[in-house]
Amino acid sequence: MSNYQSIDLDFDREHIWHPYTSMIEPLPVYPVTHTDKNRIFLETGESLIDGMASWWSALHGYNHPKLVKAMTVQASKMSHVMFGGITHAPAVDLCKKLVEITPKPLQKVFLADSGSVSVEVAIKMALQYWLSQGLSNKTKLMTAKKGYHGDTFAAMSVCDPVNSMHSMYQGFLPEHIFVDAPQSKFGEEQNDAELIALENTFKQHHNELAAFIIEPIVQNAGGMNFYNAKYLKKLRELCDKYDVLLILDEIATGFGRTGKMFACEHADIAPDILCIGKALTGGCMTLSATLTTDKVALGISQGEAKVLMHGPTFMGNPLACATAIASLELLEETDWQANVERINHAMQNLHRCTTLGVVREVRTLGAIGVVELCETVDVAKIQKFFIDKGLWIRPFGKLIYIMPPYITPDKDIERLCSGIYEAIEHKAY
Ligand SMILES: *Cc1c(COP(=O)(O)O)cnc(C)c1O
Repeated sequence: MSNYQSIDLDFDREHIWHPYTSMIEPLPVYPVTHTDKNRIFLETGESLIDGMASWWSALHGYNHPKLVKAMTVQASKMSHVMFGGITHAPAVDLCKKLVEITPKPLQKVFLADSGSVSVEVAIKMALQYWLSQGLSNKTKLMTAKKGYHGDTFAAMSVCDPVNSMHSMYQGFLPEHIFVDAPQSKFGEEQNDAELIALENTFKQHHNELAAFIIEPIVQNAGGMNFYNAKYLKKLRELCDKYDVLLILDEIATGFGRTGKMFACEHADIAPDILCIGKALTGGCMTLSATLTTDKVALGISQGEAKVLMHGPTFMGNPLACATAIASLELLEETDWQANVERINHAMQNLHRCTTLGVVREVRTLGAIGVVELCETVDVAKIQKFFIDKGLWIRPFGKLIYIMPPYITPDKDIERLCSGIYEAIEHKAY
C-alpha cells in the first residue's frame, strides 16, 4: 500500500485557479500522482495514454532518465544564480546549440522564462530596433487572425481578436493590424488573391509597421490551421520589400513537431526574430528563448537606449538550461524525424472520422492530428469519456486534436485515434 496523502480536490476547487476556468463552476480536474514515458497516472488508479505531450512540450515522454539525470546533477551543483553580471556553462552551452540548430542568420539569444515572455521580448526587440534607426513611427504590429502568442498583454494584443476577447480589454490593449488567417492549406495550391491582399495591407501600413508576427505553418491554439508554405515565403519577401521585421513564433511548432526541426524550414526562410519555448526543455522545466540577427541586435545597441530593456529574475536559469541541453542531445541521438513520420502514418486512422456526419475535416501534419467538428465540444463530457478509455486528450472549441510524445508506440496512437472515433460516434461531445 502506498502511503501518499490523497490530493485535496475540495481545496483545489475552492482556492486554485486552473487555466481558462470559472471559479464558480470550474471544469473538473483529475488528480495525477505521477507520469512515466507516455503515461499519466491518476490517483484513482487509471493509467492514461498521453495525447497532448503536456501542451506540445513533453517530446521524449515523461521521466526520461537522461533528463532526470541532467536535472538532478545540475540541481546538486547550482539550481539558480542571477544572470546579471554572471554567466555559466549551462547557459553558454545551450545558446551555442540554439545558434547552431536555428536558421543561420539568428546569432543572438535572449533567454526568458516562458513563451509569452519570449514574445514580449521579441516585440520589444522590434520596437527598439526601429527606434534605433530613427523611425519612431514604426510602432505597430501586423499579424493574421487565428494566431495565438500567449496571455501577457503585448502577446495577447496579437492573438486572434475574437478568441482572446479583445473587446473586453478595449482601451487597454494596443491595437494592431490584422489580416485574414492564411487560407490556402499546407501541401495544396496557394491562392494568389490571398497573397495580393496581403501585399496590399503591407503597402497601406508599412510606414507604421515594426514587425509581422505569425506562427509558421501551424496556427495552433487559435484554430489548428495548417497553412501553405508559399504564404510564409511570400511573407518573408514582403517584409524585406517593405522594411518590416518578421517575427516567427515557433513556441509550439519548434523541435520537430511538424516534421522539420523548425516549421519555417518548410518554406526555406529565416525570420529576423524567432521565439521558442514549450518543448525546449523536453517538457521538464519552463524556459524560452528569443533569437535574433546581428542586424537587429547590433541596431538596438547602437540606439539611444544602448541596451535591450528586459531582464527576468530567472533569466538563464541553470537548471532549465541544463535540462534543455539534455533534451536537445536526445533529439540528436534519437531519430526524431523517423518517429514523427511513423506517428503521422499511424494517425492516418483519424481519417475514418470523416464518415461521421458531425466531422468537418480531419488533418494531420508531422506528429499533429486534428479532427475538426461542426459543433463546439463539451470538454467535461468528452474528457470523462476519454478517461474511461484510458486516454488523455483535451479538446478546445470544435477541435479534438492530439500531439503525442515522439516515443509513443503505434499501438497507443491507434488507441488515441479509435478513442476519438468512438467519442464522436457515441456523441460523447
Ligand atoms: C503556448 C504558446 C505561447 C505562450 O507560451 P507560454 O509558455 O504559455 O507563455 C506563445 N506562442 C505560441 C505559439 C504558443 O503555442
